[in-house]
Amino acid sequence: MLERKFGAAETGVKLVSGHIQSDNRELLESQERNFGDIVYNFRWMTNREMNLMFDNPSLYAIHYTAYASEGRKYVPWLAKRLEELGANFVRKEFKSLDEVADQGFEYIINSAGIGAGKLAGDDDSIVPVRGVIFEVDAPWHKHFNYRDFTTFTIPMTNSVGLGTVKQVGRHDMVITDEDRHDIWQRYLELHPQFAGSKIISEYIALRPERREIRLEKQLRKSSSGKSYTVSFPL
Ligand SMILES: Cc1cc2nc3c(=O)[nH]c(=O)nc-3n(C[C@H](O)[C@H](O)[C@H](O)COP(=O)(O)OP(=O)(O)OC[C@H]3O[C@@H](n4cnc5c(N)ncnc54)[C@H](O)[C@@H]3O)c2cc1C
Repeated sequence: MLERKFGAAETGVKLVSGHIQSDNRELLESQERNFGDIVYNFRWMTNREMNLMFDNPSLYAIHYTAYASEGRKYVPWLAKRLEELGANFVRKEFKSLDEVADQGFEYIINSAGIGAGKLAGDDDSIVPVRGVIFEVDAPWHKHFNYRDFTTFTIPMTNSVGLGTVKQVGRHDMVITDEDRHDIWQRYLELHPQFAGSKIISEYIALRPERREIRLEKQLRKSSSGKSYTVSFPL
């Protein structure tokens, strides 16, 4: 347990409770099947709770408690731990996995996100899913609050993450006023108390998506004759 052993302030990993609402019961049932027995306090909310707690309740809602990590704390913490254990980080753009192997690496884990297929040379099935998230000054908000996985807030240490869009196939990396209006208006409908909250920062990125998980290991030989093993957690 990272939080218990190393502390939430260091790792950015902490327990958060909250709810997901939807008019699509099957969507929530799939969450129950996927992680209902892994998270804590998983339960279906009653109509009474939903009517008291939410301004525009959906038909169904689930509640649970789970660990959430803040990437901008967790990733540097993890990198530091790995460096202490002898790992070296090098930033460099590679044109192919052969090029990586030719630098002397025998084992390669291809985790290059939307660039992973191009790097592998044999996979054009990874598509970008454009996402936008705002960091909002609302430290009073302590529960994650979702509608249908696209409209949400997640409490962070001193602020709240509010999102998002999930635009399949879009590569453009500039946040538009249309994004801002769409996300804000959807979230305010879910949770009007956020009206007037200040945006501290804005973030845009492309999620890598693949119809099916690719989990395999290949033995390859580079064009210069070097043998190497590559694994694909794509
Ligand atoms: C707005 C938004 C909100 C999100 N919220 C959540 C959330 O709450 N919870 C959650 O679990 N997930 C969330 N995600 C999804 C999560 O961020 C991604 O699933 C995750 O980042 C994917 O990690 P990855 O390491 O596979 O790919 P990436 O994070 O895309 O990393 C790939 C890396 O490979 C590098 N690379 C690519 N090609 C090359 C090359 N040719 N040579 C060298 N390097 C290369 C890239 O520069 C990059 O650093 C969110 C995503 C977005 C956009």
